[in-house]
Amino acid sequence: MPIRDPGERFFRSTALAMLLLALFASGSATVIHYLEPDAYLLDRILPPVMTVIFTSLLVALRLRPGWIMKITRLTLAASIVALTIPSWFYVSQAFASPDIRLVDSFPPISTALIVVIILIMIFLPTRQAFCTALFAWSSVALPVLIYLLGHNDELWSYRGKDMMISYGPAFLVVLVLIPFHRGLQNKVERLHADHEHMQNVADLDPLTRLFNRRACERHLQQILIEGCRAGVVLFDIDHFKRINDTFGHPTGDAVLKEIADRFNHAIRKDGCVSRWGGEEFLMILRRVDEQALMGIGERLRQVISEDPIEPVGRVTASFGVTMVRPMDTMSSLLERVDRGLYQAKEAGRDCVVFLPEVELSEV
Ligand code: GH3
Ligand code: MG
Ligand code: MG
Repeated sequence: MPIRDPGERFFRSTALAMLLLALFASGSATVIHYLEPDAYLLDRILPPVMTVIFTSLLVALRLRPGWIMKITRLTLAASIVALTIPSWFYVSQAFASPDIRLVDSFPPISTALIVVIILIMIFLPTRQAFCTALFAWSSVALPVLIYLLGHNDELWSYRGKDMMISYGPAFLVVLVLIPFHRGLQNKVERLHADHEHMQNVADLDPLTRLFNRRACERHLQQILIEGCRAGVVLFDIDHFKRINDTFGHPTGDAVLKEIADRFNHAIRKDGCVSRWGGEEFLMILRRVDEQALMGIGERLRQVISEDPIEPVGRVTASFGVTMVRPMDTMSSLLERVDRGLYQAKEAGRDCVVFLPEVELSEV
């Protein structure tokens, strides 16, 4: 697929617009040829058939948006066939009978080429686009051009010159537009990838590769807006200064990284773990109740303290845990969970303190 997300909505609406345009063209041709007193049989049959085909493709696109690639290819194929049939029919007829002039009999279908050109440019990968453009040109335009070049009187008529330009340089403009369009498309995709990369860099803590405080605050804000059931866990490593003082700052960094890795393995996929600052971490858990949250807090405490971290030995952390309340603001939530952490430190560290959703003083 030449265009990927982020342009997918634009991609769908373009397919829809092109189909509507094709339908409008074939519908108008149907009406015009039925009003025309002595229209050719082909002109009476082909436009209504194309109207039925384009209507079916339009319905298919509405019912099965996932088939967009198949539907646009079918639209393109149908449009090329709808242009090729009259082209060959009227050219052979004009070649066969000297009193029929192509410039007088040929229906005004050159504008329908626009639909073909745009479909080729937008929906086909580069190689296929070039091949299809050349195929469409040789099957639709070439017979007309060959005829005109062999009939000077028709070529130099107003219609003849107009047809020469539409089926020659104007049609082949697609060969110039394809590389231009691909260049633009590649640039947009590169910019999108760069933007995604920058977003990741801006949201991650470089040492631990966990989310940073900025990203975590955004998550928290989202949870508060959604008002969904969630819990937060704030924890701080115990006596971390000692680790730095005894083993040096680089070892302190290695301990932080090891703890971050342990969390990443222990936490559920929909949880958000962040480095809140220094050796403090904040975790947001969606769809938990009090009991599950306490269980997670306890499990995380064990994840840190159970296995020693070399060369430091056993490392512990203190935890504050609380549920998000319906009336919480960011500061009331953070103040409460921080109070839990403070109480855990006061209680002798290496423990989890849960602050209830509704505190006893409020009851
Ligand atoms: P407590 O049990 O009360 O938490 O004692 P503590 O020694 O851990 O005290 P505190 O939390 O106040 O100390 C945090 C220390 O963490 C101070 C700072 O030097 C260190 N620190 C903060 N960020 C980093 C970092 O990125 N790397 C390293 N190695 N140390 C850091
Ligand atoms: Mg601290
Ligand atoms: Mg600490």
